[in-house]
Amino acid sequence: MQAMEWDVIIIGGGPAGASAGISLRASGLKVLLLDQASFPREKPCGGGIRSAALDRFPWLNAALHSTTTHFINKIQIESPDGTTLREERTEPLYIMVRRLEFDHALLRACRRAGTEVREGQRVVSIRSTAEGVDITTAGGDILRGRIVIGADGVNSVVAKTMGQGENRNLREVGIGHMEETPCAELEPTSPDTLFVFLGLGRNLGYGYLFPKQGYVNLGRGTLLSCYQAGRSGPPYEAHLRFVGSLVARGLLKGKSQRANFHGFLIPYGRPLPKTYADRILLCGDCAGLVNAFTGEGIYYALASGEHAAKTALRSIREGDQSSRFLRRYQELWKAEFGAELEQAAAIQRSFSKNLGRMDRIIQAANKDAALRRLLTDYMLGRIDYKTARMPLILGFLKSFLNNKINSLRKNFGWGQKASRKS
Ligand SMILES: Cc1cc2nc3c(=O)[nH]c(=O)nc-3n(C[C@H](O)[C@H](O)[C@H](O)COP(=O)(O)OP(=O)(O)OC[C@H]3O[C@@H](n4cnc5c(N)ncnc54)[C@H](O)[C@@H]3O)c2cc1C
Repeated sequence: MQAMEWDVIIIGGGPAGASAGISLRASGLKVLLLDQASFPREKPCGGGIRSAALDRFPWLNAALHSTTTHFINKIQIESPDGTTLREERTEPLYIMVRRLEFDHALLRACRRAGTEVREGQRVVSIRSTAEGVDITTAGGDILRGRIVIGADGVNSVVAKTMGQGENRNLREVGIGHMEETPCAELEPTSPDTLFVFLGLGRNLGYGYLFPKQGYVNLGRGTLLSCYQAGRSGPPYEAHLRFVGSLVARGLLKGKSQRANFHGFLIPYGRPLPKTYADRILLCGDCAGLVNAFTGEGIYYALASGEHAAKTALRSIREGDQSSRFLRRYQELWKAEFGAELEQAAAIQRSFSKNLGRMDRIIQAANKDAALRRLLTDYMLGRIDYKTARMPLILGFLKSFLNNKINSLRKNFGWGQKASRKS
């Protein structure tokens, strides 16, 4: 057993933990990052990132340089009734990465930033005392830090230590199943188009098809409660049906590869009520920072990792690691995207009660180019809900009134009389 002193110990080297480590560059602090895995490692994920991330995180461009990225400028969204909405732009709408490469690149950037990274170190327990936080690894090491940043994902040991995360509401946890396969075996026929299938036929959840450089990534997400109720059947059989439907429609060519099929939890209900405690901050999936409507989590992981790092630095400089001081971390991430996550959860709840709403929204956007642009910008994280809300409401109202007027015209023959007279 050994005891060591660190200013900041980050647990987890996914996007949240790596972003925290990178953000502490030039801070002068002694920073350690522990991850149970050895990188490069797989993380079941679509690997789609909003293009705004490149402006928000100036260091990201350099990190992406060493990975195969794919910029997408076309999107096709389908509503549960099969209505199709297509949008094409000259500028990139979304960035596609392979998590295997992306997370490895971020971890290398974290090392270059001066963080000591130890792989293959599973944390089994955490104890917060007046002197510091003691972290025990599966190998029996005890490491002491002034402050701990929990970035250990949806099954977080750190969140459980805080009495949070253990009992995530099943209605608020999702499960995603995905496959990432080389194009030589399974190939998208439109490599520049991102497909989203809302409601997946008439089931709750969504499906997606993401083309990448030399790979395709496709999968489905649903609430864990629906999955456990057996509504979609055994996972790989359901996946094969999904792949089969895309092949039949000519969107894919080739065969699914069972070995590349994985499932993982997505905490897409809403954030944990408290993402800080004495000497502890929680970020990324571990704090429940995922968009309940789109399943997006990478951007929030990167942003919350940065806020956690800045808060940790200030707390060490000011000599205060109390939960009262660390509370400002929650204020920071809430100010940036708290409302966005709340609204996404409300939209998801509304759609899960009434899939017809999704159909009507996609149908309306299909008929109106400005509405279509707004909706895709909102869904891809290019504008926030506050900006999109009023124009979307007015646009849908206009479409609703137009539909009503058209059906009255049809029923009472108004337009026909007028044209007969003239
Ligand atoms: C099928 C699926 C598809 C998705 N698609 C997208 C998408 O296209 N776009 C998007 O933005 N989001 C997507 N998400 C969500 C996204 O994957 C997560 O939100 C994101 O990975 C969160 O990053 P993180 O760093 O918080 O956690 P993770 O990426 O989960 O990283 C946690 C790290 O902690 C380590 N760890 C865990 N426990 C311990 C321990 N006890 N000790 C030490 N280390 C530990 C793990 O090894 C891991 O490296 C998807 C999720 C799923 C399941």
